[in-house]
Amino acid sequence: MYQFVAPRDRRFAWASRRGTWSRDHIPRVCPECGASRKRRVSPLVLEWLPGSGLVPDFCWPGFNDEVVVSQRVRELLNGEIGGTRFLPIQMWQNPRLGLLKRPRARLMPRVWLPYEGPPLWDLQTDAWCDLDLDHAGVLLAHRCSICGTDHYTALTNDRLLVDPSTWRGEALFRLRQYPTLLYCTEQAKSLLEARGFTNAGFHLAGEIPE
Ligand SMILES: [Zn+2]
Repeated sequence: MYQFVAPRDRRFAWASRRGTWSRDHIPRVCPECGASRKRRVSPLVLEWLPGSGLVPDFCWPGFNDEVVVSQRVRELLNGEIGGTRFLPIQMWQNPRLGLLKRPRARLMPRVWLPYEGPPLWDLQTDAWCDLDLDHAGVLLAHRCSICGTDHYTALTNDRLLVDPSTWRGEALFRLRQYPTLLYCTEQAKSLLEARGFTNAGFHLAGEIPE
């Protein structure tokens, strides 16, 4: 299994996440364990950064914990993989940028609004699996009595094994122990790589045992 990771290819446009965050929880930080109680809610809001005007098939506005994909990727995943959801995104541009003179703007390429690139989507999956905690050497150190967050000890074996009883064959999934990261099977990675999608990145994270 592979983790989706940003390859940091500077040929392509990079966006930051302005995020919209839930304000359901006051205070924002759990008073017992200090865990952030903010949750990013849809829609994801992108702000394009200067450097490149070339929109890739994979964008990484939250480093490795947000995966934004192009319409081409959506069509492949819908057709051949399934089990994925595609949420709309919005974009924001500092209004002062609109006042810049065009020649100066061309010196520092970027994606400009109004956006004219391919449709982009916030890639999500509803599939959740558990790590094989014994194999990972990870222990549940503390379950917070207020917010319910599980706090684990650090990995002692960084080659992850998924607990196979919690995996139902999904091509894309998340791990409850690392809830912000997105993982996929080798088959899904191969399919995505075979299409030559730009700016895709995968890190061999471990295995799903038979
Ligand atoms: Zn807590």
